Amino acid sequence: MALIVQKYGGSSVADGQKIGNVARRVALSAGDNQLVVVVSAMGKTTDGLLALAHQVSPSPDPREMDMLLATGEQVTIALLTMALHALGLRARSLTGFQAAIRTDEAHGKARIKRIDAERVRAALHAGEVAVVAGFQGLSEADEITTLGRGGSDLTAVALAAALKADVCEIYTDVDGVYTADPNIVPEARKLSRIAYDEMLEMASLGARVLQSRSVEFAKKYAVPVHVRSTFKPDPGTLVTREETAMEDVVVTGVTHDRSQAKISILRVPDRPGIAAQVFGSIAERTIVVDMIVQNISRDGYTDISFTLPRRDHARAAAALEEIAKTVGAEGIVHDERVAKVSIVGVGMRSHSGVAAKMFATLARESINIQMISTSEIAVSCVIEDKYTELAVRALHDAFELARERPAERGAHP
Ligand code: ADP
Ligand code: ASP
Ligand code: MG
Repeated sequence: MALIVQKYGGSSVADGQKIGNVARRVALSAGDNQLVVVVSAMGKTTDGLLALAHQVSPSPDPREMDMLLATGEQVTIALLTMALHALGLRARSLTGFQAAIRTDEAHGKARIKRIDAERVRAALHAGEVAVVAGFQGLSEADEITTLGRGGSDLTAVALAAALKADVCEIYTDVDGVYTADPNIVPEARKLSRIAYDEMLEMASLGARVLQSRSVEFAKKYAVPVHVRSTFKPDPGTLVTREETAMEDVVVTGVTHDRSQAKISILRVPDRPGIAAQVFGSIAERTIVVDMIVQNISRDGYTDISFTLPRRDHARAAAALEEIAKTVGAEGIVHDERVAKVSIVGVGMRSHSGVAAKMFATLARESINIQMISTSEIAVSCVIEDKYTELAVRALHDAFELARERPAERGAHP
């Protein structure tokens, strides 16, 4: 008998009928296995709750926001458990609190500190399916917290680690991890395996399919993660330890992120302490900056540009208008219509010329590169948002990602 953690995302439980389908899918696995099922809020519930909060307040209190958002997942656990009962299965719903998911105090992006999971284990020992609310936890001060958007993935992986589950299955609306978002690149190919590091990089560079912190957690505790479709029985993608053969492939995937904005501060005096002042004021507002570019200095002045999440850009721009005056800069310009496209692959560690090929591909499509950043296994370019789809398709084509890589043949999990 195996212990399996399954997670079903929002689109998989979007209405009563879909919850019924999930219940049948759970029933199929429940026969021979111990099962923990983690669920997200139904459909776009979380977006709806966020919008409601902003209707009643321009800056909702973070504690109250978590109190509100956590209700979404609670609806789904109760409904799925009822649906399981209707199929004759024994099942019990548990909130994040009841599953003892303990986090730090950071409302909206809490980190999991430990999971005692006694009640989850008790339910399993009693022969019940444990249906756990994703995305939510409880701080040491017994406040309800949430784990950041897409956080149900993290709940599932963390429970799998705590319970030493045999596998953590992430059921979603695509049947695995693809070489690019299949909703944008029709030729994108499903990967049968992907290394933790590649998946982590793809997730943090915009591939929504797994939340990046869940991949970090999976790597740290060596949790095998299997991404698969809620609607089709086919095998999906196994996220796993790196194997030597994976290095033979230079680029594994192309990702894009359209949630970015760019701000430039023009003609800043080029002297020590200016960058500290500029980015200090951004950090004070807990805004996370991504790429930073400072141009070479001309006649004692320079331009500094950086990217940040689009939702924070109005707040950051207001703060920087002030800073620009204080430090004697000419002013600021901001651009909400930027996107980041990236190529990712562990093989980049041992191959050269990859970045040059990426730049040449974008040039061929007459796409201007505004900013560049690199890591050991990724290269990212900031471009004008309207070229995103064109860029992703061109890169997918140039790196021949639709072609099966040799290391994958016969490797289906
Ligand atoms: P869930 O609600 O199940 O958590 P998400 O919407 O968070 O689902 O994630 C699934 C979506 O991720 C897919 O519909 C797809 O559009 C998107 N996606 C982006 N990049 C990729 C990729 N490389 N492979 C698969 N899906 C991707
Ligand atoms: N419901 C939360 C969200 O929409 C968590 C999740 O779906 O994973 O972000
Ligand atoms: Mg998700």
